[in-house]
Amino acid sequence: MNDDRYSLAAAQGLDAQDPSWREHFWVPPTASGDECIYLCGNSLGLQPKRTRQLVSEELDDWARFGVEGHFQSRRPWYSYHEQVSEPLARLVGAKGHEVVAMNGLTTNLHLLMTSFYRPTPERYRIVIEAGAFPSDRYAVASQARFHGFDADDAVVELAPKAGQTTLLTEDVEAWLAEHGHSVALVMIAGVQYYTGQWHDIRRITAAGHAAGALVGWDLAHAAGNVPLNLHDDGVDFAAFCSYKYLNSGPGSVSGAFVHERWSQRSDIPRFEGWWGTEPETRFEMAPKFSPQRGAGAWQLSNAPVFSIAPLIASLELFDEIGMSALRVRSLRLTDYFLELLDRFGAGTFEVITPRHAAARGCQLSLRVPGRARELHSALADAGVVCDFRVPDVIRLAPVPLYNTYEDMWRFADVFRRVIGTS
Ligand SMILES: *Cc1c(COP(=O)(O)O)cnc(C)c1O
Repeated sequence: MNDDRYSLAAAQGLDAQDPSWREHFWVPPTASGDECIYLCGNSLGLQPKRTRQLVSEELDDWARFGVEGHFQSRRPWYSYHEQVSEPLARLVGAKGHEVVAMNGLTTNLHLLMTSFYRPTPERYRIVIEAGAFPSDRYAVASQARFHGFDADDAVVELAPKAGQTTLLTEDVEAWLAEHGHSVALVMIAGVQYYTGQWHDIRRITAAGHAAGALVGWDLAHAAGNVPLNLHDDGVDFAAFCSYKYLNSGPGSVSGAFVHERWSQRSDIPRFEGWWGTEPETRFEMAPKFSPQRGAGAWQLSNAPVFSIAPLIASLELFDEIGMSALRVRSLRLTDYFLELLDRFGAGTFEVITPRHAAARGCQLSLRVPGRARELHSALADAGVVCDFRVPDVIRLAPVPLYNTYEDMWRFADVFRRVIGTS
């Protein structure tokens, strides 16, 4: 093996060959004023430089137009959310009217479960993955209780088989084939926040449907990270946040997807508000709710302009680059990272994320038995921003938009000094 491949110069050479789009982002400085090595884009994505312009234009238009800005401003607020429908649809593989930007992620999960979790005494269970993000667990358990069920019985957490760290698709399929008759809803994470596993959305959706259940996906860690085809995969509904891989800022607006097979139906129960009506007649203030076509019918309130503005800025970048080009760079960057880690620290850690490209996005979760905390604090001292989860896991997200091969090398260099073997 040629050691030159593992030098800083080699990493810089890879950056020259396969550059990121880092110049479009603000990278936070370390205490000494250098750019940090930011590997936390799975928690909060970095700010695109063009975001400030978009937000200040809305502030200017508000100052200039007051209420008239609903129709007079450069991006009229009345239809503000409609600007992101097509870009979001391209991002998640949907039709424009199947997606909408509204609310927060957990709020949207609840609103969608109002429509798609309709338990009966025989079919009332909700299947999630073991170790699901706490908010999702709270959401499904409270939905089950709301409908009068015992959450401990109604919520099923599918765990990996003994000796495995992640769920195998065939095990999910086998479980659903055997127990699916009691399941009303399958709602799993597209990419699991802790392990980084990318679940097989098409196969699990098909298995849920074959068992007679509906299937929704939490795409918080999938949107903007992996290519998605929600429409063709037959997903019933999905929701995701925009502040992780979508770089739209803390607490920014969520996205929701409802397959057109559902949104065209008039018998679907739904919590309703005025923004879900047809835009043409909304301001007639009619007493009866007349739903607009598509996922937009699930909107309750008028669009959060200051939360959607950063999403517009961010989605412009995704459209300019394209999800398939991003995914190509993502795989190259993460593969290189894995190779460096194996080289510099083999035997001291375990990657709990599947190594197989089809079963992961950019995130790698490292289990570092007994030394994760020590490593995390040495990394912080060296200007690395990454995330530590008890008891011994460090989550690292090399984001293809703004992380560099040099970032990977600098991380691996600290790793080698703290726990390494070579
Ligand atoms: C980040 C994340 C959330 C956060 O929920 P909010 O409602 O946006 O605060 C929920 N679920 C999953 C799976 C997440 O990764």
